[in-house]
Amino acid sequence: MELYKDNQLKIYNSLSKSKELFTPVTAGRVGMYVCGPTVYSNVHLGNVRTFMSFDVVFRYLLHLGYKVRYVRNITDAGHLENDADEGEDRISKKARLEEIEPMEVVQRYTVDFHETLAEYNFLPPSIEPTATGHIVEQIEMIHEIMAKGLAYEVNGSVYFDVLKYNNSAHYGILSGRKMEDAIHNSRALDGQSDKKNPQDFALWKKADERHIMRWPSPWSEGFPGWHLECSVMSTKYLGEQFDIHGGGMDLKFPHHECEIAQSHTCSGKTPVNYWMHANMLLLNSQKMAKSTGNFVLPKEIITGDNSVLSKAFAPSVVRFFNMQAHYRSILDFASDALEASEKGYYKLMEAVNSLENIEAGKTSTFDVASWKQQCYAAMNDDFNTPILIAHLFEAVKVINQLKEDKASLNAQDLESFKATINGFVFDVLGLTNETKQDSSDKIDGVVELLIKLRKEARDNKDWALSDQIRDELIALGIQLKDGREGTTFSIN
Ligand SMILES: [Zn+2]
Repeated sequence: MELYKDNQLKIYNSLSKSKELFTPVTAGRVGMYVCGPTVYSNVHLGNVRTFMSFDVVFRYLLHLGYKVRYVRNITDAGHLENDADEGEDRISKKARLEEIEPMEVVQRYTVDFHETLAEYNFLPPSIEPTATGHIVEQIEMIHEIMAKGLAYEVNGSVYFDVLKYNNSAHYGILSGRKMEDAIHNSRALDGQSDKKNPQDFALWKKADERHIMRWPSPWSEGFPGWHLECSVMSTKYLGEQFDIHGGGMDLKFPHHECEIAQSHTCSGKTPVNYWMHANMLLLNSQKMAKSTGNFVLPKEIITGDNSVLSKAFAPSVVRFFNMQAHYRSILDFASDALEASEKGYYKLMEAVNSLENIEAGKTSTFDVASWKQQCYAAMNDDFNTPILIAHLFEAVKVINQLKEDKASLNAQDLESFKATINGFVFDVLGLTNETKQDSSDKIDGVVELLIKLRKEARDNKDWALSDQIRDELIALGIQLKDGREGTTFSIN
């Protein structure tokens, strides 16, 4: 029997600002859309956190037995540098700076994105559509919106008429922004803008001579507005009304608000039943920004190649660190916090590994059924991974007691205990069993010890012993380097 029938999953819906019981449009099936990356640079660590939060949502829905269609797009048509629809296309700009084709930029960073997500053990989405692959559909949707009288063309560009839309619908339904505030917060119209009102947004932009990525349309040679692709691709693959739409908190306004306006105009329906927003990631309590140097790439965490890090960390440690915070909380990324998570992660893995060798007893001294129920209750409460992890650490205590014969589980309970732990640790949280780092930590400790002994030998002028230590380490592929600060080593 499908687990979802026994579980009452509640999701915090940004639309109602409350936790709601999850009921999919079609029983047993879930349609989920998450705004993907704009592929003009290496994927940002903050985005990795957002995508990881939805990876766990996807994993838990699958674990509950739902058939899930998970769509995450790739924005490869570029979008404009500021939300006022002025400025230069980011992908074109990068292509011009690097003197390469825009599609080379797209290819390079799409590959980087996939590599990074694979390193962090993400499940691939069911469909990963690209904006450039859906230009025809985007032009079609512009026609539809124009036919409803909610878009207008000026000098080859087409804009969505927000004020007019708001007469019969509610622009601001998701973000809670009032129309007056939206006007107030918009940048003043500069002389070049064709918009009727500052809060209108582009559905199609005429390309100027500098613009390399362009497509023919009834209005001009140009390119689609950024908000349009998500309405088009979510409708195409998930229908006019689907279950879950996710993204980073920063996309709520204007991006998601514009998506709702576009889709609602075309179908007359509320496009999304549950809007989910993941909170942001800070680095050392500050906003991450390339310009200030307060910045780290996901790949640098694995190599340790960044001065904000004390060392390299395994991808599963980073995943575990992310899961220790709820997806709707701000998370502060810092090297020492990661070191603390590392300890917790290896403690958990050690327990999980030793569970394999534990044998069943005659009776049970631990209530597995109620513990298991609490694990599900945590995830059913808006995917509360930190509470789930607390329950997993209760299990670690029990495993240690089992190892020391201070507790026992009968065969049935032991089997259920193992299956539940493995299910949550590997399938739901997506952690991988990395013990390599653990043994390399031990090797590091042993080499440090030999360095200390070699120094003592040298202090005693026992050159024969100090040379022997160095040479035998070299034979093992471990190179010692003597410097002013002491001796360091590298392992080949
Ligand atoms: Zn989007």
